[in-house]
Order: sequence, then C-alpha cells, then structure tokens
Amino acid sequence: MPAKKKKSAKVLRCPSCGMLVRPTDEDFPFCSDRCRKIDLGKWASGAYKISSPVVDPEVLEDLDNPSARRSGGDGGGSSER
Ligand SMILES: [Zn+2]
Repeated sequence: MPAKKKKSAKVLRCPSCGMLVRPTDEDFPFCSDRCRKIDLGKWASGAYKISSPVVDPEVLEDLDNPSARRSGGDGGGSSER
C-alpha cells in the first residue's frame, strides 16, 4: 500500500459534508457511502415533494378557514347520534 501517489489528482468536496474527496475514491464524488446515501435521501425527499399530488389552492383556503366549510354538519356536533 503506497503511502503517497502523485498529487496531480483533482480534489473535490463531498456534496454532503464538504470533506475533500479524490476522484479515485470508491464513493466519489462522496467521501463515503454514508454521505452518498445522505445525498440520495435529499433527492428522494425532493422527488417525493414533486410527485405528491398537487393541492388545489381552493382546498388550501378551505383548510385554512374551517369556518368556510362549516355550512351544516358541524352545528350541534355530538348532540345527535
Ligand atoms: Zn461526506
């Protein structure tokens, strides 16, 4: 196991933690498998957001103002069973 090789290799930073990574590293461009998974997780969560169903603005308003959708039904609550 050679201690030192040529220094000509470019060094990049791990997108996850910012550590220096060499292109020869196994997990390049990440410093480790862990950071690779972290980055994948970010992408996954972003993808989930994108793939989630689009909510109608009106529905959002409805949720924001419960009184607006109270037209009947919520009058007595548990008075009748
Ligand atoms: Zn890292």
